Amino acid sequence: MTAHLPTISQMHSTQISHLPLQLLVLLLLLLLLLLCTDESRGDATSRLLDQINQVGFVNVLDQAARPNVPKDLSNYDFIVVGAGAAGSSLAARLSENPQWSVALIEAGGVENIAHNTPVLAGYLQQTASNWGYRSVPQKLSCYGMNNHECSLPRGKVLGGTSSINYMIYNRGNRRDFDGWAAAGNPGWSYEEVLPYFLRTENAQLQGLEYSPYHNHSGPLSVEYVRYRSQMADAFVKASVESGLPRTDYNGESQFGVSYVQATTRNGRRHSAYAAYLKPVRDLRPNLQIFTFARVTRILIDEATKSAYGVEFNHKNKPYTFKARKEVILSAGTFNSPQLLMLSGIGPEDNLKAIGVPLVQPLPVGKRMYDHMCHFGPTFVTNTTGQTTFTSTITIAEIVSHFLAGNPATRLSSIGGVEALAFLKTQRSQLPKDWPDIELIMVTGSLASDEGTGLKLGANFKQEIYDKMFRDLALAQQDHFTLLVMQFHPQSVGRLWLRDRNPLSWPMIDPKYFVAEEDVEYLLDGIKASLRITQMPALQKIGARLLNRPVPGCEHLQFASDDYWRCSIRTLSYTLHHQVATCRMGPESDPTTVVNHQLKVHGMRRLRVVDTSVIPVPPTAHTNAAAFMIGEKAADMIRSEWS
Ligand SMILES: Cc1cc2nc3c(=O)[nH]c(=O)nc-3n(C[C@H](O)[C@H](O)[C@H](O)COP(=O)(O)OP(=O)(O)OC[C@H]3O[C@@H](n4cnc5c(N)ncnc54)[C@H](O)[C@@H]3O)c2cc1C
Repeated sequence: MTAHLPTISQMHSTQISHLPLQLLVLLLLLLLLLLCTDESRGDATSRLLDQINQVGFVNVLDQAARPNVPKDLSNYDFIVVGAGAAGSSLAARLSENPQWSVALIEAGGVENIAHNTPVLAGYLQQTASNWGYRSVPQKLSCYGMNNHECSLPRGKVLGGTSSINYMIYNRGNRRDFDGWAAAGNPGWSYEEVLPYFLRTENAQLQGLEYSPYHNHSGPLSVEYVRYRSQMADAFVKASVESGLPRTDYNGESQFGVSYVQATTRNGRRHSAYAAYLKPVRDLRPNLQIFTFARVTRILIDEATKSAYGVEFNHKNKPYTFKARKEVILSAGTFNSPQLLMLSGIGPEDNLKAIGVPLVQPLPVGKRMYDHMCHFGPTFVTNTTGQTTFTSTITIAEIVSHFLAGNPATRLSSIGGVEALAFLKTQRSQLPKDWPDIELIMVTGSLASDEGTGLKLGANFKQEIYDKMFRDLALAQQDHFTLLVMQFHPQSVGRLWLRDRNPLSWPMIDPKYFVAEEDVEYLLDGIKASLRITQMPALQKIGARLLNRPVPGCEHLQFASDDYWRCSIRTLSYTLHHQVATCRMGPESDPTTVVNHQLKVHGMRRLRVVDTSVIPVPPTAHTNAAAFMIGEKAADMIRSEWS
């Protein structure tokens, strides 16, 4: 059978012959537009220019025209390391005070048209904007990945992971934050963090205009994805038929189903860079942003245990910046712990083994939680033209999206994610209003990009694509996938350093599914997803399980419990919500690294402000929380230094 299928290289060449033509037309249109004289530019042209500006070409030109070259031994009040969601929001807020100078140091460059086009989300992991980390080979998960290594992408660009993520906007459950506060973190209860979530948000959510859970004047745009497939409508309807309420999962109750809320603006990605930095960087000489600048060490006065600066490399040259007030690490859940350890703050055994002199013993990286997912089940339908395959995107859609600013084309689909359902399994011991499973409804699968994006990004074996998804792509068969995600896993991973070279990858062992129970939760979630597809709304479009056994699980009866258990350990797919590597909690708790003010225990003038401080996995995707943490940290720092 496979003999009749085109080879991968044939498939690539087919797509490549489509893409340049589309891009060429786009570039020609842009050129024509830019050649228009000022007099000939009416309102419509100005609007078009505005569209182009939003798309991101200008970012790249702007960056090239104004490289910010660091001056060695410069002094700033605050040095923020890393321009992700937390670092960008923090630096923007601190620099509102014109008396304070802020240096924001980012290892990556600037985002462009690809980042800003939501449908391309799956491709960004193959670009230089991804640090490209992989886990150590997993014993009990990721069997479907090459060498059992799970892919662990992270953003390396102004905007950080918010510039390469899937743009789902989701805050978490009231009980998550109340739990943080109860664990010895005053100020972090739901009532206390909600104002910071609101402060970030500029919601354009039809039907929620008067909700007290949404704000309309913050920097970060949140909107419903305007492109909707029939399959998403059927899924939402079927979920309701199965007994789930329609809900605003960022509102009073998470429990239920909703179309996805996204960090997009008029159908384009709205990253931390676009929301917080771009609007102010030209207006604030006290905010200095340095790109392609990689911090390698925190400078610490060992006598007082005070941080007083950082060392970094910019274009292969070493630099030192000094901080008059604080050094703040916002380098993300893998790199903040790495920088602490490179600077002598971490577990004594690991630092000793790699020859880093110990400054402060702390359990940095000793704990890491994540949200593991099952990539599926996938269902085929009787509809046509509802699943977006990359090669079917037309020039008309590209023009409509980019030049007419139409936010409702398939280009604004956030990598195919259309709806979310928050559920409880039978086995859950948690209170009634605390979901333990999420179904992420995606129109498509690994087949949507015909094997050219997601498969590579996630490190899936070729065999998985060939045996399960390739025919879907060739036939352009409509289908959707319900990713099943577990919110409160028992498995705990860890991160450590292999050597003292700051350019080496940290070693990351997520230990997915070492707790057998985590597999059972996902099994219950799969069964819940199958129940929903039996409901009339999905039966009406002929939804049925994709009848292609998972490679490695063929020996088990298809769709039996044991088959699904095997599938869970094979199609193990993280949604990249790693947290707790610099866990927040009181100093008396030996598992914690920072206190409730995000100050590193036992150190002075050093904080960690990013998702690495989140103490336990939240009932949410983690981007909204990163912004909230940045905003809250800014307030704490302001009140301390003002
Ligand atoms: C592929 C993917 C999809 C995701 N999808 C979603 C989603 O749809 N919704 C959601 O809520 N969450 C999602 N997440 C998770 C979410 O985006 C992240 O948890 C969140 O953005 C992390 O924010 P942060 O500020 O903690 O760190 P980051 O955004 O990772 O920022 C850290 C920054 O520090 C920089 N940096 C690191 N080391 C150094 C150094 N040594 N020197 C200088 N700079 C450095 C990095 O380059 C980066 O810019 C996704 C994650 C991934 C990887």
